[in-house]
Amino acid sequence: NALNFSGGPGVLPESVLNEAQKAIHSVPEVGLSVLGISHRSDWFAAVVEEVERNIRQLLQLPDSHALLLLQGGATLQFSMVPMLLLRGSGKTAEYIHSGYWSRQSIPPAQLEGDVRVLWDGEASGFRRLPAASELNHSADAAYFHYISNETVEGIQFNEIPGREDVPRVCDMSSDFLSRPFDPDRFDLIYAHAQKNLGPAGVTIVIVRRSILDQVPDGIPALLDYRAHLKAHSIYNTPPVFAIYVVLLVTRWLIEDIGGLERMAAINQHKADALYAIIDSHSDFYRGWARSENRSLMNVTFELPSTDQEAAFLNQARTIGFSGLKGHRSLGGIRASIYNAMQLDAVESLCEFMEDFVTQARR
Ligand code: PLP
Repeated sequence: NALNFSGGPGVLPESVLNEAQKAIHSVPEVGLSVLGISHRSDWFAAVVEEVERNIRQLLQLPDSHALLLLQGGATLQFSMVPMLLLRGSGKTAEYIHSGYWSRQSIPPAQLEGDVRVLWDGEASGFRRLPAASELNHSADAAYFHYISNETVEGIQFNEIPGREDVPRVCDMSSDFLSRPFDPDRFDLIYAHAQKNLGPAGVTIVIVRRSILDQVPDGIPALLDYRAHLKAHSIYNTPPVFAIYVVLLVTRWLIEDIGGLERMAAINQHKADALYAIIDSHSDFYRGWARSENRSLMNVTFELPSTDQEAAFLNQARTIGFSGLKGHRSLGGIRASIYNAMQLDAVESLCEFMEDFVTQARR
């Protein structure tokens, strides 16, 4: 488990796994397995409340923004966002096409209205992200959508793009709660749990309450943020276990890590260690991303040949590393180092990479 560098789901803290394991047998306050506790119980209502309180505390989220726990993954948000914010508006939504996941986000929006791709990274092989000067925003867009961290390519925005007078929507699935940011600059944020927050099954949505006033009629309730807001995220049966694990992870972030500034410093340290190895052997390990856009969550690189990549993955596997194979659409190697990945595991990977390059040069 400790050496699982998989792109998704990410590893969870050992203490969280232990607590979750106990809860599968029995949650002490209730005397029942978490898998058998009703979502209509007072206990679960308190879990949802504390998840919300903890995330609000971590992000210093203002009351202008609501927090929802939904299902359907980040992929459902690719549809819900334009259904609610673009449909019938007569406006155009602006998207950045920066990689594999943003490519998936665009067709569902095109079903709901006009979409303008503000910047397309395909020509540059999705190795870099646009500078603010390359983005020609218009003032009357319905909203502007981007992905803060492209999980497949390993490229991450360091600055928040977009204009302040156009609603800003961001898919933060693979870097949510990995670093602090100003939530007030966003009108809608979504992030599935299975990178930094817990198991798959729950997706966090943070939405500025005032933009919900413009939602068109005729949206099925399950796809309408307002229905979930009214039901305190228990509109229908939610994934109780996944939400409980998210609770444990948020407690870990607050109590054990000490907040998002500390988490970001740890994440920076882990990423620096890996990029230093890549840079010190740049004729062998070829970093995928342009250095200014390197992701702190997904470190992607190639070896001189696919045979060497296969040998690298094979040897890594025999030592106990897993999940290092690049995404099927891109190939290469990807080391995902989400919040709960420990520094010593990253250091072990660095050592392995040093040894492998030495051996390859013999
Ligand atoms: N957005 C990003 C940035 C992702 O990394 C992923 C999957 O890894 C998705 C969206 C799709 O998420 P889901 O499988 O939860 O629908």
